[in-house]
Amino acid sequence: MPGPRPRPELHSIAAHAAGRSAGVPAEEFTHLLAANENPYDPLPGVLDAATAAARRLNRYPDIGCARLIAALAHTCDLPPTRFAAGAGSVGVIQSLIQAMAAPGDEVMHAWRSFEAYPVIAKAICGAMPVAVPLTDDGCHDLDAMAERVTARTRLIFLCTPNNPTGTAVGRDALAEFLARVPEDVLVVLDEAYAEFVSDKDAADGLTVCREHPNVAVVRTFSKAFGLAGLRIGFAVAPEAVAAALRTMAPYGVSRIGQEAAIASLAATDDVMKRVDLVVAERHRMEDALAARGFPVARSQANFLWLPLRERSAEFAGVCARAGIGVRVLAGDGVRVTVGARESNDHFLATAANFPLEPGR
Ligand SMILES: *Cc1c(COP(=O)(O)O)cnc(C)c1O
Repeated sequence: MPGPRPRPELHSIAAHAAGRSAGVPAEEFTHLLAANENPYDPLPGVLDAATAAARRLNRYPDIGCARLIAALAHTCDLPPTRFAAGAGSVGVIQSLIQAMAAPGDEVMHAWRSFEAYPVIAKAICGAMPVAVPLTDDGCHDLDAMAERVTARTRLIFLCTPNNPTGTAVGRDALAEFLARVPEDVLVVLDEAYAEFVSDKDAADGLTVCREHPNVAVVRTFSKAFGLAGLRIGFAVAPEAVAAALRTMAPYGVSRIGQEAAIASLAATDDVMKRVDLVVAERHRMEDALAARGFPVARSQANFLWLPLRERSAEFAGVCARAGIGVRVLAGDGVRVTVGARESNDHFLATAANFPLEPGR
């Protein structure tokens, strides 16, 4: 007799996780440019808040993250009833899909985009992911997405800036799209990289979700705020959806996470100084790679997308041998995080030695 068996759909998650690092543990790389992490150590005040919170590890955290939500509501100038926090924005995304999509319902997303959407929708929630190809220049094809809406569509994820292509959805294009989407479909703007956006015409989720009753925004403390290891994300959603999310993920954020996030919001000016450094490095890397003949798109995030197609794995291998971890998306391209200056220099020197056209 075989023992108890998890649902077979879950195999796809394990396969996905194995593909991530190509078998090499992240720690083995000297330069970690694969996970879009913040290269800087925690800010001193944030570390102090986290350490102080650690003294109360024997106590449960606030089940509803009330102080964190109050701080977010104040920062975003929206009522606290519209917020929910969770274990990273991936945790919030999972709760959103569980809250909105029953088995067989459709969850639309662009492709390539964040790999968690189809995996969570299908393997964890039993919903039906609907992947709509990006345009040739790596942007969301909002016309095609609007056309693919059916009576079973419950959720549409727009990842902006898009992971991995770095493109942001424009304000006007989003307004036109929202006018075409039925009011009972929740449009989720995944803005994990919002702080790095420099395009003035990009849509801003916190503005859009004030004007549209069917828009939610998901943000995270993992990227610009540099707290990936603590797992804190949040949604700004229509009140009924936010209330559902709060009931679904009780105790989702640790006390250390809540206190570190509150301290980070108080230190937003310092956080944004670091973001500015990353954006300056992003421009420097884009220019250097373009000058070297690399196909590199202008990014609005803290990573670059190199659509190297069939040479992606080869390039990632060259980086790995140089001690640099990058993310290879087989057959499509390589995503490189903008890291600390030293890591970026090492990456650029490595890339400069990569023969772009074989045989020349
Ligand atoms: C990194 C990332 C997240 C954030 O994940 P966390 O769970 O908050 O660490 C969410 N969405 C996208 C598109 C990302 O790239």
